[in-house]
Amino acid sequence: MTHRIRLILGDQLNSNHSWFQKVDNATVYLMMEVRQETDYVVHHVQKVVGFFGAMRFFAAWLQDHGHSVHYIKLDDPENLQNIVLNTQSTLRKYKAVHLDYMEPDEYRLQTLFEQEFKWDGIEVQRHSTEHFLAGHEDLETHFKDKKQFRMEFFYRYMRKKYNILMNGKEPMGGQWNFDTENRKALPSKVYPPPPFLFKYNTTSLVNMVQSSGVKTIGTVNAEAFEWPLQRKDGLLLLSYFVENLLPAFGTYQDAMTQKSWSLFHSRLSFALNTKMLHPKEVIEAVVNAWDKSSSEIPLHQVEGFIRQILGWREYVRGVYKTMMPAYAQMNFFNHKRTLPSWFWTGNTKMKCLQHAIGQSLEKAYAHHIQRLMVTGNFALLAGIDPDEVDRWYLGIYIDAIEWVEMPNTRGMSQFADGGCMGSKPYVSSAAYIDRMSDYCKNCVYDAKKKTGVGACPFNSLYWHFYHRHTALLRSNPRIGMAYVTWSKMAETSKNELLAQAEAYLENIESL
Ligand code: FAD
Ligand code: SF4
Repeated sequence: MTHRIRLILGDQLNSNHSWFQKVDNATVYLMMEVRQETDYVVHHVQKVVGFFGAMRFFAAWLQDHGHSVHYIKLDDPENLQNIVLNTQSTLRKYKAVHLDYMEPDEYRLQTLFEQEFKWDGIEVQRHSTEHFLAGHEDLETHFKDKKQFRMEFFYRYMRKKYNILMNGKEPMGGQWNFDTENRKALPSKVYPPPPFLFKYNTTSLVNMVQSSGVKTIGTVNAEAFEWPLQRKDGLLLLSYFVENLLPAFGTYQDAMTQKSWSLFHSRLSFALNTKMLHPKEVIEAVVNAWDKSSSEIPLHQVEGFIRQILGWREYVRGVYKTMMPAYAQMNFFNHKRTLPSWFWTGNTKMKCLQHAIGQSLEKAYAHHIQRLMVTGNFALLAGIDPDEVDRWYLGIYIDAIEWVEMPNTRGMSQFADGGCMGSKPYVSSAAYIDRMSDYCKNCVYDAKKKTGVGACPFNSLYWHFYHRHTALLRSNPRIGMAYVTWSKMAETSKNELLAQAEAYLENIESL
């Protein structure tokens, strides 16, 4: 019998893929845990354990459904710790003449496979992952040959294409966007429901990762691993979200608090990015819940969520696919500063950063506004090298895969692409963080103070950022007001702000 090897990567755990609809005795599914993947960046320990754990459950599911699986564990003596070499040795082992693989989302692996999957006598075929909602044609239409990409137009197109929340040709509720009703701070009397957590015993997996010498960051409770490792867990997490969190999702989407680490967020990104869940089923679950009880779940909560999945998630993939590999080099502001060491420990006096980083190290998770307006905001104001910022985000979050991490980090958060993605940099002084969080009232710094002892670093760094990039930003119509305010300030105030910022930057390690 001539064999066919089908390679499945750790983020291709899509049990509804057409590959698995039929059992074929001549087909062997190849899965592997390799140092090539654990070592290309320093990952959070929960991310490594989460991926390997989910892969092992997926392999068991395939076997339970009659498929043949060749699974190479990280510590298997036969493991060559490299995807191409392991694939080659498996082709030889089974005397296979066909290799199928699903299109990798990451540019790194896509180019590697295109270059290296070439052997005499082996027929190689690439297949779709059957996961994303925007096809290659959609990406061509909306991204190719464009200097700027705007999420809103792409999102409206996707709403129409899939007929989601549409009333004929018009958006349901007469508006595409309900942001004015969303994005409120969390009142002190409101307590978000507890996050829905799993309790997997992952001790042997954690021991294997540690004894293999894989360098990781963060902590893990090995006996009670909290993230979904199987499709059925992802579905449970989705149901919990729809019933308990969706009714307030949009309202508190941008709120930050020390009372809860995930507020009303779904925490579905890991299940989605490993493809255990399909974006369409997530959207359908949310729209169906709204259909059934629109009195309890207002439209603005639902639209706010659909926008994330059907809009942002598909859109950042379009940016990545279109802009790589140049995107990975972009550094519009020519920022060169090293990331402060407290990004790896959370040991800073700034409460907002202490909480967002501490939580990321403990949970491998921070919600969007913590990523964008706390850690990302600080890194941009302080002029940190986007390469370092990228590596940090790519390592620390359980959901971090380059196709989604990089446009969010380099584009949306650091404006390193000079505005391909966003029309202006996402920066703020302490006022925004104070308004949207309960961080500032417990901080040694004073959010209202701009200079002098105890002044919040965000305030002077904010003006330092605009001042040092005047040549690049002044003509941007969306930023004009900041420069008008700056130009109206007395020279002494300006100089005090700049001197304060310089002093903070010189002592960045001890902030
Ligand atoms: P929810 O708030 O419940 O949102 C629902 C879903 O919408 C998410 O699961 C996600 O799939 C999708 N989504 C929401 N916002 C975005 C977005 N901006 N881009 C893409 N998808 C989105 N997301 C990742 O999946 N992986 C990353 O590595 C990643 N890195 C980020 C880095 C930075 C600097 C920033 C600002 C954002 C990043 N995001 C990333 C986007 C977003 O922060 C996460 O998707 C979200 O926090 C995941 O938590 P959740 O599942 O609870 O999301
Ligand atoms: Fe962060 Fe400044 Fe508020 Fe402290 S005062 S929590 S440093 S924004």
